[in-house]
Amino acid sequence: MVTAIVGANWGDEGKGKITDMLAEKADIIIRFQGGANAGHTIVNNYGKFALHTLPSGVFYNHTTSIIGNGVALNIPLLFQEIKSITDKGVPAPKILVSDRAQIVMPYHVLFDVYEEERLAGKSFGSTKSGIAPFYSDKYAKIGFQVSELFDEELLREKLERVTVQKNVLLEHLYNKPAIDIEETFNTLMEYKKMVEPYVCDVSAYLWKALKEGKNILLEGQLGSLKDPDHGIYPMVTSSSTLAAYGAIGAGLPPYEIKKIVTVVKAYSSAVGAGAFVSEIFGEEADELRRRGGDGGEYGATTGRPRRMGWFDAVASKYGCRIQGTTDVAFTVLDVLGYLDEIPVCVGYEIDGVVTDEFPTTTKLEKAKPVYEVLPGWKCDIRGIKKYEDLPENCRKYIEFAEEKIGFPITMISNGPGREDIIYRDVR
Ligand code: GDP
Repeated sequence: MVTAIVGANWGDEGKGKITDMLAEKADIIIRFQGGANAGHTIVNNYGKFALHTLPSGVFYNHTTSIIGNGVALNIPLLFQEIKSITDKGVPAPKILVSDRAQIVMPYHVLFDVYEEERLAGKSFGSTKSGIAPFYSDKYAKIGFQVSELFDEELLREKLERVTVQKNVLLEHLYNKPAIDIEETFNTLMEYKKMVEPYVCDVSAYLWKALKEGKNILLEGQLGSLKDPDHGIYPMVTSSSTLAAYGAIGAGLPPYEIKKIVTVVKAYSSAVGAGAFVSEIFGEEADELRRRGGDGGEYGATTGRPRRMGWFDAVASKYGCRIQGTTDVAFTVLDVLGYLDEIPVCVGYEIDGVVTDEFPTTTKLEKAKPVYEVLPGWKCDIRGIKKYEDLPENCRKYIEFAEEKIGFPITMISNGPGREDIIYRDVR
């Protein structure tokens, strides 16, 4: 059986923690999209880890971690990441890398940096990991698959062909040095040595695993609102963040995805530019940012302070719908325990009309939040294991959110650890 764990919002919902937790009963965990541009923070017995490429199940001995074909694979970063966890005493994880995954080339990172420089104040707030240039090349059919590292002659020939166009841009648009083919080729040969032990025909491996009844998790990066088709275009990421894409980015039959756990954050946070209707500012935002997540709401990859806001039921309802949610995991609820009152965004006012349907970007930019204010519970809910033991106002907040988003909240996360979870039977 395949379960997807994906985000409903802008990312940073706590997918890493939920995946790590569900991985206890899983055999295989797959990353199916995105790259090292975002991160998952995981707290467990070995310490605190920020993973960027590895799936969040790498901390168990019984699991196989897979980098699917849909991922933007930065090979040296993957190996640094493996080292960073084995250095802290985690047993060497079992890792497979799809032979069809494409490689983030050294020049992808440069193009990302140069383009952000060129756009200056109008930039997208990229993490400069080369992800947008990588996916552009993938779909322009000038990307490099892992499998291509193993035919040196063809590789060199293609590199010569591809760099012609890149060098024109480097010279004339960015005024930067041209790509050195020899140096790039040598770098790719280093990449080949690093990746060789892990290369695998992943879709064939998964086909067999499914026949054997294995439990498979798909771990998404970012959230619905960052999806290039259904998100806040163009303030999106370059690969699909939706569970449906899990089938493609891993190489699985779509009908095998039986459960879609959508992670919804009990308040909002976002990184990068773009419309954010329930955003808050000033001291109110600073306090939520300081108290948020596990040690504050700062980017796992960049350390940038995240933009903060109240729970947005309009965006979350849409985010869950577009994922095809079967279960909602409602996270970081413990963080809200300090508030006397908690505003929830229940509608958007656009040109004088209130709606609870999430609009396209041009309309979204005009939207003003319509709030309903709920009473806070004014206590620490960490450590609570049973739903009935939560304070009444806290349960009311959960049930209010559930009613507004229209999907069952079956898990409530009340702390960063694996054990900080309350299961709720609502069916
Ligand atoms: P992801 O990208 O969706 O995996 O999310 P991140 O890892 O970027 O952000 C989630 C942050 O919140 C991490 O620091 C987690 O350790 C932390 N976290 C996850 N769930 C909870 C929770 O229920 N309560 C608290 N306080 N922190 C949580």
